[in-house]
Amino acid sequence: MGDNTILSVSGLRKYFQIKEGVVKAVDGVSFSVKYGETLALVGESGSGKTTTGHVIMGFYTPDSGELLYKGSYNLAVPMKKRSLELKRDVQIVFQDPGTSLNPKHMVKDIIGLPLRIHRLVNSSTIYNRVAELLEFVGLGEEFMFKYPQELGGGEKQLVAIARALAPNPSFIILDESTSALDVSSQAKVLNTLHKIQKEHNLSYLLITHDLGVVRNIAHRVMIMYLGKIYEEAPTDEFFGKPLHPYTQMLLSSIPALTKEDEEVKPKGVESVGEIPSALSPPKGCRFHTRCPFAKPICSEREPPDIVTDSGHVVRCWLYE
Ligand code: SF4
Repeated sequence: MGDNTILSVSGLRKYFQIKEGVVKAVDGVSFSVKYGETLALVGESGSGKTTTGHVIMGFYTPDSGELLYKGSYNLAVPMKKRSLELKRDVQIVFQDPGTSLNPKHMVKDIIGLPLRIHRLVNSSTIYNRVAELLEFVGLGEEFMFKYPQELGGGEKQLVAIARALAPNPSFIILDESTSALDVSSQAKVLNTLHKIQKEHNLSYLLITHDLGVVRNIAHRVMIMYLGKIYEEAPTDEFFGKPLHPYTQMLLSSIPALTKEDEEVKPKGVESVGEIPSALSPPKGCRFHTRCPFAKPICSEREPPDIVTDSGHVVRCWLYE
């Protein structure tokens, strides 16, 4: 693990037993996140990206795999077994601020709660700190005395971000945090996240299906499909030179806004079919049932990881 690594995940597996069988939600995933970096984890619904984030948060315990945080903390344990220090340092912002903020509490108490839990302020300074956090995310002090239902979607999400920032974390999971917002609120929240990251050297794991958001704030991108990671690359290279047919399929389905975008868009990779059930993932390359380039070996054997000189990793038999 490099010195610059804040989180290292290796061989992570999380299965769920349900009436119909076993759902292999996360099936052997490895990656690392650097200090001050935004790593995007992208996939369709059912890809396992949210489960991955929730294991890191301690909402689920992994079946196997290693999750090492800051070189010494073991994250492969449930939330209740984590130290207060670890709980303080790893935070999450959920998709829907409407349900993640308590409607009976004023903003000052919502943001004040983690400050009290982690004993970061005393009762005489707590509201100064809440006001500071509100200013920091671009909301004024006057928001302290509002209830969540008096706020717009973007304002609610900024309150949720201020609450996540209150305990001075190093690592924040952004779990579809801008998906429920309109375009202008989304831009405001993304700008705020970018500013906070620069000022506090924060690391983000950005879980999303929205490639537009990825392009705006991620440094690196990983593509997840049916519990496995199939491509990983720096953001420019990911959009400029996507290698995996699944990535090409996702990128070809985004409407191009400029002539340049249209020129770099992958051609001839049509979006076909639905993601198969994680209850019975296809053998070999899990994407072979939707891949226009599938060869006989694809349905027999799992493709190996191919690493290029620029650190671009692709898992596909086309590059063997
Ligand atoms: Fe397509 Fe085969 Fe590559 Fe999978 S391994 S993406 S099926 S070409």
